[in-house]
Amino acid sequence: MQKIQKFPQVDGDLGWLESTPDFTAPLGQRVKGAQEFDVAVIGAGFTGLSFALRFAELEPSARIAVVDALRVGEGTSGRNAGFLIDLPHNLDGGKTDVSYARSLYKLNVFAIERLRAFKDRFAIPLWDDAGKYMSAHEESNEPGLASFSNMLSEAGFEYETLSGRDLEKRLGTSYYRSAVYTPGNVLVNPAALVRGLTKALPKNVTLFENSPVLGVEYGTRHQLRFLGGTISAPTVAQATNSFSEEFGKVSRRLAPVFTYASLTPRLTDEQIKRHFNGVQSWGTTSAHPAGSTVRFTVDRRIFVRNTLDFLPELMSTRTDLDTAWIQHRKSFEARFPFLKEMAFEYTWGGMLAMTMNHEPVFADAGGGVYVMGGCNGVGVVKGTYLGYYMADHIKNLQSDNLTFIQRHSSPSWVPPDPLRTVGARMRLTRESAAAGGDI
Ligand SMILES: Cc1cc2nc3c(=O)[nH]c(=O)nc-3n(C[C@H](O)[C@H](O)[C@H](O)COP(=O)(O)OP(=O)(O)OC[C@H]3O[C@@H](n4cnc5c(N)ncnc54)[C@H](O)[C@@H]3O)c2cc1C
Repeated sequence: MQKIQKFPQVDGDLGWLESTPDFTAPLGQRVKGAQEFDVAVIGAGFTGLSFALRFAELEPSARIAVVDALRVGEGTSGRNAGFLIDLPHNLDGGKTDVSYARSLYKLNVFAIERLRAFKDRFAIPLWDDAGKYMSAHEESNEPGLASFSNMLSEAGFEYETLSGRDLEKRLGTSYYRSAVYTPGNVLVNPAALVRGLTKALPKNVTLFENSPVLGVEYGTRHQLRFLGGTISAPTVAQATNSFSEEFGKVSRRLAPVFTYASLTPRLTDEQIKRHFNGVQSWGTTSAHPAGSTVRFTVDRRIFVRNTLDFLPELMSTRTDLDTAWIQHRKSFEARFPFLKEMAFEYTWGGMLAMTMNHEPVFADAGGGVYVMGGCNGVGVVKGTYLGYYMADHIKNLQSDNLTFIQRHSSPSWVPPDPLRTVGARMRLTRESAAAGGDI
């Protein structure tokens, strides 16, 4: 029996979830008693749901269970910054060649359009075709923008460079020196989106929430153990991202990094009129990979994400959240000094499942077990396509996109602890120092 030792928890106050309409509604039962399915999916984030939706399309008679330790929207899929990124990203591995960039773009756009179709069909709220800025405050981080715009030019992608007063007019803050704007990115409330996707699950898919898998007995029919219940199935898809190694089929590939976010209440009409008159909703990532992500949301809140921590227990403490909150206040007040009096309504943490070479896990582990993970900070879109194409792989549906994923899913080896922890913490400290005022 492969016993699970580390379990997801709710880290802090989950702002996107709580600002989602209907956030208290249960979407699934707990697993109780002995149950049999054809396919069991562990993880109801973007990856697991995308897998289940595609598998159900390809085999409408298959009985599929999707299980999650938390409620849908409480996991990392509901905690992220909500960028659906169409272009190669600076957290995405630094592979800069043009043909790689074009293939990745094709996959990303495929995933965004698939999510858009669900959004339209099920009227999922808080979707915003706002594009994306990548911005620099520090002169020393401007080369990050230059290398991004060079890649965009070479690969023939549309973009705009902005600086000074023009940029200030677009963002409502003079904090940033310059930025590169790309129009194809979508901004969402990720909790609303991931919860909305469950509406698309057909009748042959059963969703279980609040049901942590405690252990797995691998066999001809794999048996998942829960508190007071079991699920057995000949096919198991593991979509637990940072928790993937707990299930024993992948080892020394992941280095999950904690990061944190805060969200304000809605700005008042008065605040909008005084400070953001004529400013459209926007989102910016940083020219430095350790810099802050900031959004002015379509429902008029400010979102700040920064601070990177290596926490091998895969959970944060109240002290970790407090340290992040202090940094969030500094970053927020530096950018929006005119909102100094405004408190955050929510602060929470979550994990980026990083791999050393930024390639994801997309593994056929044999015996009907499949593993997807290693989102590398861009898992809304990446998880959506990994889930979709893993179902295609199982059903032998080969395509250019699937071939590209298979070629680029060999995450390199991560050393064991304590080396992993020491190395990761040193690297995060160095990166954070280099980001300077872009945090
Ligand atoms: C603060 C923050 C900002 C981010 N910003 C962005 C962004 O803007 N854009 C982007 O694309 N990505 C972003 N990311 C990354 C993104 O959130 C992830 O890539 C994405 O959630 C991956 O989806 P997933 O379905 O693979 O994994 P997850 O969302 O982590 O889902 C895995 C699920 O497995 C469940 N699970 C784990 N163990 C068990 C068990 N034992 N039993 C049952 N269930 C279990 C978990 O509860 C969880 O719900 C960000 C992440 C963070 C933390």
